[in-house]
Amino acid sequence: MTQTSPSDTLPDVRGRLTPNRDLSALTWLRVGGPADVLFQPADLDDLQQFLRALPPEREVFPMGVGSNLIVRDGGLRAVVIRLGRGFNGIEIDGTRVTVGAAMLDAQAAKRAAAEGVDLTFLRTIPGSIGGAVRMNAGCYGTYVADHLVEIRAVTREGDLVTLSKDALQLSYRHSELPEGWVIVEAVFEGATGDPDALAARMEAQVRKRDETQPTKDRTAGSTFRNPAGFSSTGREDDVHDLKAWKVIDDAGMRGATLGGAQMSPKHSNFLVNTGEATAADLEGLGEEVRKKVFQVSGIELHWEIMRVGEPAQK
Ligand SMILES: Cc1cc2nc3c(=O)[nH]c(=O)nc-3n(C[C@H](O)[C@H](O)[C@H](O)COP(=O)(O)OP(=O)(O)OC[C@H]3O[C@@H](n4cnc5c(N)ncnc54)[C@H](O)[C@@H]3O)c2cc1C
Repeated sequence: MTQTSPSDTLPDVRGRLTPNRDLSALTWLRVGGPADVLFQPADLDDLQQFLRALPPEREVFPMGVGSNLIVRDGGLRAVVIRLGRGFNGIEIDGTRVTVGAAMLDAQAAKRAAAEGVDLTFLRTIPGSIGGAVRMNAGCYGTYVADHLVEIRAVTREGDLVTLSKDALQLSYRHSELPEGWVIVEAVFEGATGDPDALAARMEAQVRKRDETQPTKDRTAGSTFRNPAGFSSTGREDDVHDLKAWKVIDDAGMRGATLGGAQMSPKHSNFLVNTGEATAADLEGLGEEVRKKVFQVSGIELHWEIMRVGEPAQK
């Protein structure tokens, strides 16, 4: 057993265990306190052995690359699991693409396109494949739900299981993955396409993003779900049209600030860390926006950014 503090023993691993790991460097918004422990498993077997041996009362939080997260300033009382090199593979067989959960969405899109498979919708989403599945990520009208076949995940008890797309019940920015399960691999099915045409489409998407969103700032993408988001499942009852940025504009909150946090002047549904923001500034500003939007339009905005952990001790 590895000793991290007198009261805290953890299973031996081949990967890396870091106690009290500051998470701010691992999130796009660059805020957040420490995790009790950060575990970076060497490979699938290491992850399974660790979870089997970890006492069941220890909370586990899998994170991707932190592009949809506010970790609060007091940090996370959990074992945070972050997948790396051992989970970064890709296999393309005809139109079927099997990708490791740690691979960046952009990388998966480019690798698939080079083999003539269209997963171009992933190109401009800055997360990892694990995060994309968990959030049913998507853009420009296409979502993970449209292309996912199945995933492999490790349960909190350390068992490797395969879950079909249907079992995940993907809906707008949501999936039904049990707490503490770690997605390790996803299988997608894409249409065939000409590699040059797919590459050109991806370049156009990147340009469009840069023109309309603060892609160079510290953000976590859309702060709130569209009040009744886009259809992400194709079901008739899942079609919506109100845009969060519009109701935020109507409430006069574009450019609003709190401490170092700002609602981006470029895209009013993007919350930006302008430099020295704390998680409390960012979350507090988001809550002010929700309040103002409700006062002005009666619409209740729901966070799309996941907020985890504890506030700073006063
Ligand atoms: C500039 C910018 C633009 C964005 N544009 C879009 C967009 O167009 N469309 C869109 O959908 N999103 C967008 N996002 C949000 C974000 O990129 C997505 O939600 C992305 O899928 C999150 O992936 P991640 O790896 O960063 O996950 P994280 O932010 O690290 O985690 C998000 C959630 O996924 C879970 N998770 C991550 N990895 C795993 C795993 N291996 N197993 C189990 N659970 C896991 C975490 O527990 C957490 O609940 C944008 C973000 C930014 C910063």
